[in-house]
Amino acid sequence: TVGDARPSFAALIRAVADFPKPGVLFRDVTPLLADAQGFADCVAALAAPWRDAGVQAVCGIEARGFIFGAVLARALGAGFVPLRKPGKLPPPVLAVDYQLEYGSDRLEARSDAIAPGTRVLLVDDVLATGGTLAAAQALVAHFGGDVVGASVLIELEALRGRERWMGEQPLHALLRY
Ligand code: AMP
Repeated sequence: TVGDARPSFAALIRAVADFPKPGVLFRDVTPLLADAQGFADCVAALAAPWRDAGVQAVCGIEARGFIFGAVLARALGAGFVPLRKPGKLPPPVLAVDYQLEYGSDRLEARSDAIAPGTRVLLVDDVLATGGTLAAAQALVAHFGGDVVGASVLIELEALRGRERWMGEQPLHALLRY
């Protein structure tokens, strides 16, 4: 986690009760994205821990991980690889299936998207139960990529997603709720 004081861009994230279903407090980052200074500050904070990490590829998770991940890739001088929901990428793809609270989901990447040994940073907007990020970690491992760590904007601590993060690499969160 980066810093103790809550950054000012935190005020630009909107909490919406019971979306997309009852009981979920949805963290809407679109007001933050729309604010030029807030977005810039957020991206700078996301990039800070990785400046000297030798990141070669940023993998962003569909869909909001694409926004933060692509900008972070540019900030770090790395390439960008989208990890997509099923059926969005043309074949051939590599895929990992993972469990949701109800049912399952899948992440896919183009089958030659990550060369073995590539130093990969994973990015998403929100860490909730951790299933999505763990699946992304597994998918990159499937390629033989070297996951150097992950950054999320928001960690929902009560859901204990961090416990599903495998290995000793850093998992940074800018904001914890
Ligand atoms: P999980 O696999 O449970 O960690 O869920 C993480 C994924 O679901 C991320 O891609 C988030 O974009 C999304 N997500 C989960 N919970 C929320 C939430 N409360 N607000 C916004 N997005 C969420």
